[in-house]
Amino acid sequence: MAFEGLTGRLQNVFSKLRGKGKVSEDDVNEAMREVRLALLEADVNFKVVKEFVAKVKEKSIGKEVMDSFTPGMIIIDIVNKELTELMGGSQAKLAKANKGPTVIMMVGLQGAGKTTTSAKLAKLLQKQNSRPLLVAADIYRPAAIKQLEVLGEQIKVPVFSLGDKVSPVEIAKQGLQHAKDNGNDYLIVDTAGRLHIDEELMEELRQIHTEVNPDEVLLVVDAMTGQDAVNVADNFNTQLTLTGVVLTKLDGDTRGGAALSVKAVTGCPIKFAALGEKIDALEPFHPERMASRILGMGDMLSLIEKAQSNIDVEKAKEMERKMRNAEFTFDDFLEQMDQVKKLGPLDQIMDMIPGMGKMKQAKDLKVDDKQMGRIEAIVYSMTKQEKQHPEMIDHKRRKRIATGSGTNIAEVNRLIKQFDEMRRMMKQFSDMMGPKGPKGKAM
Ligand code: GDP
Repeated sequence: MAFEGLTGRLQNVFSKLRGKGKVSEDDVNEAMREVRLALLEADVNFKVVKEFVAKVKEKSIGKEVMDSFTPGMIIIDIVNKELTELMGGSQAKLAKANKGPTVIMMVGLQGAGKTTTSAKLAKLLQKQNSRPLLVAADIYRPAAIKQLEVLGEQIKVPVFSLGDKVSPVEIAKQGLQHAKDNGNDYLIVDTAGRLHIDEELMEELRQIHTEVNPDEVLLVVDAMTGQDAVNVADNFNTQLTLTGVVLTKLDGDTRGGAALSVKAVTGCPIKFAALGEKIDALEPFHPERMASRILGMGDMLSLIEKAQSNIDVEKAKEMERKMRNAEFTFDDFLEQMDQVKKLGPLDQIMDMIPGMGKMKQAKDLKVDDKQMGRIEAIVYSMTKQEKQHPEMIDHKRRKRIATGSGTNIAEVNRLIKQFDEMRRMMKQFSDMMGPKGPKGKAM
């Protein structure tokens, strides 16, 4: 996940500040020197770093901050606000056409993730009850059309294509007409990329632009390329006037320099972030939430949104009832793991929980997807009866389960012990709460 290094370093700087009852100007200067280094190491554009640090310093060396009881906290808050500003302040939403389909032109260099992102965006719009149409206008990259068609099929979004013998401008034009005729409210045009920016490519993009008059021109850039991505964005923007940037491969970007520089350098807001190869790994970009993640303060809002759109509320309620009544079985346990998995890779979810990111680093917690797979294998190796009545699983059965799941008896023991403890805790908790809330003293 992005920003790992940066988060760790910033947290060190701030824990030093927080430890102080009083913060002097020297302390602030020292902290800002470290923030500067941390940002440069994260590959943030040096001009951006300079301005950022100057702003934070100016706001931190005020009388109110120095004299406050919690100067460290106030400075973190200042950094949080400035980081948010740096990435655009508030969420830059997708434009919507007043009349007819909203036209989105996807542009970018080859390999940045344009085709994948086009399909991801279609899926996101479809989830919001829109009816997007994808247009395959990348006729040069071998298999780009096929790739879009396969993705379209997978998400049940229609793909308009005229093969690779018709000009991209013509494809885009006919695609738009097709959307109008079929009542599609979004048109996503996947254009051709190149290995490098060249005049021929820009000319073609300008012609498509003139033909379809897009509401959005979204540049797809690979976050892992850091400052190169920022330069590409700057270059495209001067030649084509972008309306937004999509950062891809943030899942593999440990530094985060592109995310932190692109808005400040180009003036173009980041509208979406892609965090994986899977088709639903695209999120609207929220600067304030991203700032919070960078500072290791988690991102509960995104987590709740993910939960709302992925988790079956009725099932969750039923699960809660079972837990309260200590009826929870290994079958329910499996189902719950399934629900959690729908939220995305475990380490990304952990990063959204305040404090978890840090704990994960410090303790080297092993709650990765592989570990989840082993736990599942153990449960799958239980018989139907064993899952429903875990108390019947004796030593002999445990040995059989370990062999069947390709794990070892220690792992099986551990899981059953944890499961028992969980059930006992739930029981105690629900006894304590009673049917109508906490017993005893008012809280
Ligand atoms: P295009 O040439 O710009 O159309 O690029 P593609 O859409 O074909 O993507 C290039 C490669 O990047 C593919 O292997 C994608 O699966 C991968 N990719 C795209 N977005 C992401 C992302 O957010 N995370 C990761 N890990 N891989 C991605």
